[in-house]
Amino acid sequence: MKFLRGRTLKDSVTLSGVGIHTGEVSRITIHPSAKRGIYFYKNGVKIPALHQYVVNTVASTDLCNDGKCVRTVEHLMAAFYLLGIDSAVVEVEGLEIPIADGSAKVFFDLIRDVGIEELDYLQRYFKIVRPEEVRPNGIFARLKVYNGERFVYEDVFNHLGRRKAVYEGEAWEALVGARTFCYIEDVPLLWLLNLGRGGNPINTLPLDENLCYLVYGDEPVNHKLLDLIGDIALVGGRIWGEIYSSGGNHTLNHMVREVILKGGVAKEFYPPLEVRVS
Ligand code: ZN
Repeated sequence: MKFLRGRTLKDSVTLSGVGIHTGEVSRITIHPSAKRGIYFYKNGVKIPALHQYVVNTVASTDLCNDGKCVRTVEHLMAAFYLLGIDSAVVEVEGLEIPIADGSAKVFFDLIRDVGIEELDYLQRYFKIVRPEEVRPNGIFARLKVYNGERFVYEDVFNHLGRRKAVYEGEAWEALVGARTFCYIEDVPLLWLLNLGRGGNPINTLPLDENLCYLVYGDEPVNHKLLDLIGDIALVGGRIWGEIYSSGGNHTLNHMVREVILKGGVAKEFYPPLEVRVS
């Protein structure tokens, strides 16, 4: 067993780019922080990166507080989780977190390259203590007792068949770099809903029956696993246990967070420094 110490960045990093849904350019600056927690700041308003501030889970995960919102936080949150960062302040100028190449790679590399600093406490954990299933309509998630941190995503993808991806504490290149994808046939509906305005074949892998843009078959399932991790990170701690998602989306991930936070299935704990075992 190994519990992570608090972690932040060694210095600030900045990134500008278009948002996948708004199509508008925005800029974020991620600053180090010694205080536990990830916080967005927009026009001086603090928006904690926590479940309670989630206002939308259709096509992206969006947060709002006091009339100020930040859209599409999940890939940045996944980069934080995969790097073990639990402490940072993200200044946002604009409406949405830049989509970059559609994956978590740009955030991951920026943070890793500037360096990571360990802090003087161990992180908050949510330990799954009894199994539970969340089954809204055809899709489902299972929470299981497990001695470690494990996220699994499985689904039958159109044109690709059944695919499964597993994260067990080690981020690998193809997980971090898995891009957003969409089925070509869904594009008119997305536009009708005023979504995907910033999407293009560089930040979104287009899938149709010809699969002509596909570079490797597991990119879509890896991306869904990335979304699951980034969404679950909004519980405000790390998971000790297994979360399995079958065909889940941001809305199912939202329901899983609810189960974790309501207590009973998961227990919040703060490992004291002296019981740390490597
Ligand atoms: Zn995504």
